[in-house]
Amino acid sequence: MRELSGRACVVSTLSVLVLYYSLVSSEFADMEDIDSEVVVEDKREDAASGLQQLELNDAQEKIKMLESKLAMLESRLPSTTTYPDIKFRTYKDRKRILITGGAGFVGSHLVDKLMLDGHEVFVVDNYFTGSKRNIEQWLGHENFEMLHHDIVNPLFLEVDEIYHLASPASPPHYMYNPVKTIKTNTVGTVNMLGLAKRTKAKILIASTSEVYGDPEVHPQPESYWGNVNPIGPRACYDEGKRVAETLAYAYNKQSGVDVRVARIFNTYGPRMHANDGRVVSNFVIQALEKKPITIYGSGDQTRSFQYVSDLVSGLVALMASKYTQPVNIGNPEEKSINTFARLIRDMVGGDSQIVHMPPVEDDPQRRRPDITRAKAELHWEPLVPLEKGLAKTVEYFRKELSRTKHSDRNNGDPAEYLL
Ligand code: NAD
Ligand code: UDP
Ligand code: UDP
Repeated sequence: MRELSGRACVVSTLSVLVLYYSLVSSEFADMEDIDSEVVVEDKREDAASGLQQLELNDAQEKIKMLESKLAMLESRLPSTTTYPDIKFRTYKDRKRILITGGAGFVGSHLVDKLMLDGHEVFVVDNYFTGSKRNIEQWLGHENFEMLHHDIVNPLFLEVDEIYHLASPASPPHYMYNPVKTIKTNTVGTVNMLGLAKRTKAKILIASTSEVYGDPEVHPQPESYWGNVNPIGPRACYDEGKRVAETLAYAYNKQSGVDVRVARIFNTYGPRMHANDGRVVSNFVIQALEKKPITIYGSGDQTRSFQYVSDLVSGLVALMASKYTQPVNIGNPEEKSINTFARLIRDMVGGDSQIVHMPPVEDDPQRRRPDITRAKAELHWEPLVPLEKGLAKTVEYFRKELSRTKHSDRNNGDPAEYLL
């Protein structure tokens, strides 16, 4: 309604402007005609032409005023909403897909992938670590629905597939409220499995390499049971995810729920939370801001980093497969945190100092996925080289740090991030 009256107002202002302008200019043209026919020399006529000039100036002033008013009114109109091009599917092969935690880092890229592929996507998120900005490119689209909801509470929806990603993922975030982290991964997972059971939906649980704890087996295959401190600072997350896996297989055994379990290894890319304290976002932002790069402990501990679009394609492949046992999804290229710090500093090009801070408690010392199973069962392996993925990530954070206004659906073309 506001939009309509706004448009009406602009149209009427425009008509007044056009009418006024045509009257003034025709009057002026008439006068010029007369002037050319009659040679006027006396003072009376001089005065008249002076008067005409004044009127013309006055008219030009008024036109300027009306033009600026028109521009102001036009700026109030909502810009026409456009969406990225997506595949068209009829109701016969379009799925209804729920993504819990879909406003988060990984979830939002999965939303892009499934939306571009023409499915109906429901996102459920409590915005603890996610943000509306991550999925704003789809708000209002007929295939997209965003529900602000906490999965610790029951949820009733009719869906075909569930990607269950809701859970804080960075150590500072999951340690911030450990009890809530446990509830989200246990009670929240029970609710999502209950939903899958009732709707007969397939459900994929986003588990983690943290189920291996500080591993004594290297690299880690899915058959390894792990080495987790059950009462340490990471336990709320590690044990929460281990229970989530146990729940998935209990629902599978007892109620026939069709489950998939992805053990996700360290992932990075655009839309990581700038303040989540994970190593990639920390190092990139520190390097961009020319601040010291903070290594916790000796920096000899290792991680293996995968770019987010590799993870997304792995998750989609796992959901589509018939394989129900846990699958590692990660990039086996392993680097020490020291090497990683230098790599990021050199890529950003700053001259940040690299400093060592005290080590964090229970920090896993080595981590690298054995992806034999993913290759065999899903025909999947990561494709994005570290340098390429990091360059995209640096570019994203550079843009984010220079942002000075709220977004106007300016999050970029989603396909641009899916390397
Ligand atoms: P993220 O923090 O960016 O996203 C998690 C999302 O879940 C956020 O949008 C958050 O608001 C939402 N959420 C949290 N608690 C919720 C609740 N109770 N109800 C509804 N929504 C809730 O993290 P991410 O990196 O995108 O991780 C996604 C999933 O992948 C998580 O389950 C995480 O454990 C798993 N994972 C991620 C990584 C990684 O490196 N990114 C590694 C291993 C596992
Ligand atoms: N649940 C839900 N949505 C549904 C179905 C179930 O949130 O569509 C929740 C429900 O509130 C219950 C949980 O999932 O607490 C587990 O469901 P289940 O059927 O296993 O348990 P029951 O309802 O028999 O306790
Ligand atoms: N780390 C670091 N400096 C930071 C952030 C993290 O040295 O500013 C280290 C951290 O101690 C760990 C590794 O980087 O050894 C990965 O940490 P992150 O929090 O990204 O993920 P994790 O694999 O520990 O869950």
